[in-house]
Formats: sequence, structure tokens, C-alpha cells
Amino acid sequence: MPRVLLGCIADDFTGATDLANNLVRSGLRTVQTIGVPEGAALPVEADAIVVALKSRTIPASLAVAQSLQALAWLRQQGAGQIYFKVCSTFDSTPAGNIGPVTDALLDALADAPGSGFTIACPAFPENQRTIYKGHLFVGDVLLSDSGMRHHPLTPMTDANLVRVLQAQTPHPVGLVDHEVVARGAAAIRERFAALQARGVRVAVVDAISNADLMHIGAALKGMALVTAGSGVAIGLAQNWGLHTVQSGTQGGSQAADQLPPATGLQAVVSGSCSQATLQQVQHHRALGRPAFTVDPLALATGTDVVAQALAWAAPRLGAGQGPVLLQATAEPAAVLAVQAQLGAARAGELVEHALARIAVGLVGLGVRQLVVAGGETSGAVVQALGIRQMAIGPQIDPGVPWTAVHTTEQGGQTLHLALKSGNFGTADFFAKAFTRLAGA
Ligand code: ADP
Repeated sequence: MPRVLLGCIADDFTGATDLANNLVRSGLRTVQTIGVPEGAALPVEADAIVVALKSRTIPASLAVAQSLQALAWLRQQGAGQIYFKVCSTFDSTPAGNIGPVTDALLDALADAPGSGFTIACPAFPENQRTIYKGHLFVGDVLLSDSGMRHHPLTPMTDANLVRVLQAQTPHPVGLVDHEVVARGAAAIRERFAALQARGVRVAVVDAISNADLMHIGAALKGMALVTAGSGVAIGLAQNWGLHTVQSGTQGGSQAADQLPPATGLQAVVSGSCSQATLQQVQHHRALGRPAFTVDPLALATGTDVVAQALAWAAPRLGAGQGPVLLQATAEPAAVLAVQAQLGAARAGELVEHALARIAVGLVGLGVRQLVVAGGETSGAVVQALGIRQMAIGPQIDPGVPWTAVHTTEQGGQTLHLALKSGNFGTADFFAKAFTRLAGA
């Protein structure tokens, strides 16, 4: 069996396609699986495998167990380096899951070469996620001043990542600051060694540009575990003699991102309440395109909102008014009001479950091009559709590629699916996605 260079464990499904997208762009043939595959080996050859979990917001003990199961399977595939993919806005709570999962993976890899130390680096400069002096910026503002402070499940109110991670692990957390990163891979490795000698097991690493990511990537050669957002992935391929990163929305290595031609009807399902998604929903409405709102309070009272949504969508699909949008996306104040009545977890679950059933229904109505907005939402949709594996296609915006998938629901359809992390994509993303697919 050919050796897999990189084995990846992603803590949510949009994050997984985001990572796979960057790996494909950097020249690695990449396969993404939904959950840990049942068979001992994949029937396809790949340089990198991304196992997508939905473990970002589940209890830490469960996230650890699932991540260790993924690790064991990836090591069976011969993966030489393990990549734990976390959110570019470091979504987590003081209870985890980034710290506990990183600790457990490090412990499990104790016998592997290059073990005992790792980084934590969610930087993704192409998507305006930069880290300086350990502080995460989203665009021009600190994480704690960004819309992420209102996230329904993982509100991020501290931009100091060393402090955020330290709350999640008993081991000391260090920092490799930008002054070191700018001096290149040798300086970074020297700092890794110095920190490790002081008992540090995980260090936050500054990065404000793709050049920084290339330095960091080179410094990670041979490290058993890398904990990072998707950005760091662009610097790894050079360690295996591959180095073809392209930037911009047209990025993609020639053969690696080819998908079969798109067919069927178009729809968008959104359960993200992030600011970028709010703008995208507004843009869709401003174009006069059809939109249906899923009301969490109606769901809670047992109203069959799913049936209503599908009855609304049926005559509008393919009616020439543009893709239909079915969404629970709401402003922070509205989300808070719903959460005050239902609790955050129950509200999230109700909405995710409803949107997932709507997505299954839409496929039943002939939708074959589907955009899903929201990480947790995407996880619920992908699971409901019974998707096991995804082929990565052209990039729509940084971090969001089209994929081609086969469902086990609705008679086993093949469809094109784009999973958009809440804060990714320009305001015209929903329209742009379908144009990009038509031109692929
Ligand atoms: P993002 O990628 O923007 O973080 P997610 O889908 O990961 O989006 O998370 C959004 C969460 O908010 C989901 O659990 C979703 O079900 C929930 N949610 C969506 N709309 C509402 C709403 N109107 N009120 C309360 N919770 C909501």
C-alpha cells in the first residue's frame, strides 16, 4: 500500500473541505472522508486523507475518543504526519476541545518520530485570520472584537490564544512570536527546541502572511502532530518536494480539482449566524431571489416547518428566479432571544436537524447543486444525506471549494456540494458559487 504523507483529523465538516482545498492547491492528491471509514483501507490512492469529524462542540471526552479513533485509522494507512485541523477563529470554550484533543493526540503519538511537541496556529492570512504576539485578528480587529464574540455555540471573547489554549490544558503553552517566524524555518525550529526544553508541549505561532506560513511549514518537517487551521497546510507540501500553492479564487492544481459537470436544480441552506453569512443572506434577498426563514420557536412548538419549507421550495426551484435559499440565519439579538427561551444547545440542535431534513427533501425535489452555510449545519446536512466521501473541486472563495459527493439518501444521488464556514466568502458568495460551478 502506498504511504499516505499526511493524515488529517478535522473537527468539523466545512473545516475539512477548507483544509482539503488548501492541500489540493498545494499539490497533494487529497481524499476527504466523512467520519472514520469502516474498511481497513481506502480504495483510492492519495497523498493526504482528511477525516471529517463533527467534534468541535461535543463534550471533550467524546471529541477525544473520536479523534483517537481517526488517528488509529490514519496510522493504519501509514500516515507519516498527523494534522489536527481546528477553526481559523479557534472556536472552542474553556472546556475544549482544542486543548484536550491536542493533548490526547500527542500522548497517543508518544512513540512516533517527532513527537512530544506541537504547534497551535489557526492563521489563514488569505482569509484575514492573522496572529501577532499570540493575538488572533479577524480582518482589522481582534478576535474578541469581531462577530465571533456572538457565536451561538462558541463565543470567542479573548483574542490571546496562549491564554485561551492554556485554559484547556494542564501543560504549559508557549509562543513563537513573529520576530522569530520572520527569520525563517531554522529560527523557528530553534525556538521549538528551546520551548520544549522548558517543558512546553504546544506553542501558538504568529503568522501574518503566506510567506510566514511557508517558513512555518518548512519548520514542521518531521513533526508528528500539527494542530492548526487550514492555512498552515499550504506550507507543508514543500517538505515532500511538492510546492504549487496558488492564491486567488481560481486557485487549484490542474488535475486535482476536476469534478464531473454539474446538473440539476440549485439551492442554498444556511444555519450560520456569522456576520459574513448575514451579509450573504442580505445580498441574496437584495437580488430579489427567493428566501424562506426557518423559525426555531416554531420548530420548538412542533410545527412541521420542514414540510412547509419544502412546499414553499417546490414551485420555486428551477422557476428562473435564481437559487432558493432556506435559512435560519439571524442577527445576534434574535439568536439570543431564541436561546433565552430554548437554551443554546437545544436551539442549535433543533435548527440543525430541521435544516438537514430540508436538505434531504431538496435533493428529493431534484436539487443537485447545494450550498450549505455553517460548520455545524454542514455537519448535520452531510450526515443526513449519508455522504461518506467527498472529491474536492474548484475553489469558490478561499477556504470553500465545490465538492462532488454520492449520497446514500434519496435513492443514492450524486450531487455537487459546497460547505461554507460561517465567516468565509464575499457578500455575493451564494450567487458566485453557482456561476463558478457552471464555468468549472
Ligand atoms: P458557523 O459556521 O457560522 O459557526 P454553525 O452552523 O457552525 O455556523 O453554527 C451555528 C449554530 O447556530 C448552529 O447550531 C445552528 O443550528 C444555530 N442557529 C442557527 N440559526 C439560529 C437561530 N435563529 N437561533 C438560534 N440558533 C440558531
